[in-house]
Amino acid sequence: MDAVIAAARAFLGDRLSTAQAIREQHSRGEDQTAPTLPDAVAYVETTEEVSRILALCNQHGVPLVAFGAGTSLEGHVNPVRRGISLDLSRMTSILEVNAEDMDCLIEPGVTRQQLNDYLRDQGMFFPVDPGSVCTIGGMCATRASGTNAVRYGTIRENVLGLEVVLADGRVIQTGGRSRKAANGYDLTRLFIGSEGTLGIITRVRLRLHGIPEAQSAAVCQFPDLAAAVNTTIVTMQSGIPVARIELLDADQMRACIRYSKLEGYRATPTLFLEFHGTEAGVREQAEAVEAIALDHGGEGFAWATDAEARSRLWKARHDAYWAAVNLIPGHRGITTDVCVPISRLAEAIVGAKADADALGQTTCIVGHVGDGNFHQVILFDPNDPAALERAWELDRKIVARGLALGGTCSGEHGVGLGKREFLEQEHGAEALALMRTIKSGFDPKGILNPGKIFRN
Ligand SMILES: Cc1cc2nc3c(=O)[nH]c(=O)nc-3n(C[C@H](O)[C@H](O)[C@H](O)COP(=O)(O)OP(=O)(O)OC[C@H]3O[C@@H](n4cnc5c(N)ncnc54)[C@H](O)[C@@H]3O)c2cc1C
Repeated sequence: MDAVIAAARAFLGDRLSTAQAIREQHSRGEDQTAPTLPDAVAYVETTEEVSRILALCNQHGVPLVAFGAGTSLEGHVNPVRRGISLDLSRMTSILEVNAEDMDCLIEPGVTRQQLNDYLRDQGMFFPVDPGSVCTIGGMCATRASGTNAVRYGTIRENVLGLEVVLADGRVIQTGGRSRKAANGYDLTRLFIGSEGTLGIITRVRLRLHGIPEAQSAAVCQFPDLAAAVNTTIVTMQSGIPVARIELLDADQMRACIRYSKLEGYRATPTLFLEFHGTEAGVREQAEAVEAIALDHGGEGFAWATDAEARSRLWKARHDAYWAAVNLIPGHRGITTDVCVPISRLAEAIVGAKADADALGQTTCIVGHVGDGNFHQVILFDPNDPAALERAWELDRKIVARGLALGGTCSGEHGVGLGKREFLEQEHGAEALALMRTIKSGFDPKGILNPGKIFRN
């Protein structure tokens, strides 16, 4: 380890830090795992620096964990075997924007907020919007999505190509600028969702989208959870191209009303909706969804028409996690991430809430329900030693139901440490063995984010 630190310091100077406070900041993400201090943190600024550090770590067999903004929720950035935490948050250049082809080339530390501020005057936007301030490199590595995925896809559908530094320091390019290609194995998609275990992403080429001519947002409240979920199911089965359809259960609404000062709403199950298109198209979509909601006992739409009201609404949605953990002072939360086929969504969500209620456990449900994906923030008292284990037990129960309904343990947050135990059940032993073969082909010495995705 000392040899790697000395050699890296020679070209990074004080951007290679062994300070206690810096190592603590890189000891875990927004998860509830026990923190582990890396031996050192390297703040890199170029692909060449990434390549040199990886070559050094590979030569000496030192573990290396990529770190974007550290917002991941499953222990992804926790350097469980210590070594180097490679911080890419300073690689923030927007290198190209090609308006004619609607694509751009960026460094991995760029955030979607930074990119969208840059693009706004050009009539384009990048739609993938997790509810955190995270890096696009981290989003690629976790296969992230957000409220817009139901219309625009996840990060997987919006990446055209990557530059990646391999474990031994070699640099490769994947994908390209054309919208389609049938030209060999799809390495881009292999790195998307690989959680820093196959290589380090140093450049990302993204698809961009035109800002729609018309946008409108609405809120619809329901007497019970099943009514809100069934409205979503029928909307999706009817093929209405909603841009966003997000569920907040009664507890989550209670939390958001308090935290985000949402006035005029009641703490009952609620859908936040958004429609994109032409003026006529947006009107037509909204009328169709409102009719479905009324059929299910919904109260009709409250419109957020101007841009300011819309952005207040979606800010409240994006702050839902913070609203949830503030519901009981001093409590913390773990977050489930089950995703099921849309036809099974009501069973999954209503069942998950019933499980929590039966245990007397306070939980807040917030969901990208158009994709069949929901999060249940399970609140626990960090001063009660048994409370975290009880929360994990409930999480496992909710995942088990999701899997039994043909779903997945993670729709968007990824595996990290927290979801490793479910992979064999989901994929089968043979497929998991093949994944391990891929891992050892890319990283024979096992230096890249060891201990993640696989149990050992
Ligand atoms: C309040 C809140 C709301 C959230 N909402 C959502 C949501 O709506 N949708 C969603 O998908 N997620 C959500 N998340 C989870 C999290 O924000 C995402 O997983 C995000 O993509 C992580 O990005 P990051 O930059 O913070 O990555 P980090 O946490 O720093 O890293 C995540 C993983 O990616 C790897 N990695 C990071 N950068 C690179 C790179 N350049 N090359 C290779 N590997 C790399 C790391 O090693 C690690 O395994 C939320 C989190 C919070 C706290």
